[in-house]
Amino acid sequence: MALVNTEAVLLRAHDYRDSSQILRFYTKDYGILSAIAHGVRGKIGKGATVLTSFASGALYIYVKPYRDLHTMKEFSCRQLRDGLGRDMLRFAGASAGAELILSHAEQSSQPELFKAFEDALDRLESVASDQLSAAVLSGLWTIVGGLGFAPQVDSCINCSKTLGEKVIGCFDLPAGGVCCPSCAQESTGPRIGPKARDQVRELAAGGLPTGLKYDKQHFALVSDFVTYHVALKPLKSLQFLSQVLSEHPNAP
Ligand SMILES: [Zn+2]
Repeated sequence: MALVNTEAVLLRAHDYRDSSQILRFYTKDYGILSAIAHGVRGKIGKGATVLTSFASGALYIYVKPYRDLHTMKEFSCRQLRDGLGRDMLRFAGASAGAELILSHAEQSSQPELFKAFEDALDRLESVASDQLSAAVLSGLWTIVGGLGFAPQVDSCINCSKTLGEKVIGCFDLPAGGVCCPSCAQESTGPRIGPKARDQVRELAAGGLPTGLKYDKQHFALVSDFVTYHVALKPLKSLQFLSQVLSEHPNAP
């Protein structure tokens, strides 16, 4: 059993017996790690920080080789991100990101994915309300990219021809990108014009396009993409997110 130290984000916490918790972390150096934290709940009220989902910090953990459950020594919280819990859409966006990580991340270091996830959580916590749905979409696309499934939006996924500025293409879901009008005849995917392609490109790069409209179509695209390529099943958190998004004051 070796004591290791890594940057980590707490994904989920479950109470265990009288005073312990089972914690699932996404770590920078080891991917997903589950750990038992003995006696942590007994410390609450004596100055210890209550651990909540999406907190980031330095994790000190005894790792047992070939085991799934390790033992936490200490989690030194650097960023609590408790702002995420004060708004349903922020929280739903973060939860979908976490489920995406849990559904597909490996038990190995993926530093780009770790950064994409932390950046997405920071944006979701701090962004202004009128940019929140864009931050939700951006978070999902950047995590999808971090997992190695970035969508192709600049050139046709079938014939590689660049789609011109005025060309309406279509998004071929099984192929994972846009296709040009001549190749689109074979595809049943949604139509995607130049503006929407620019927006997907910007969202996937972590940007927040101003005046983003058609949130529902954008959400359907990223959600279907995740289901088809990444999770391989509908994620509960995406269904919940879809509901919260449709009730958001800035929804179309
Ligand atoms: Zn083509």
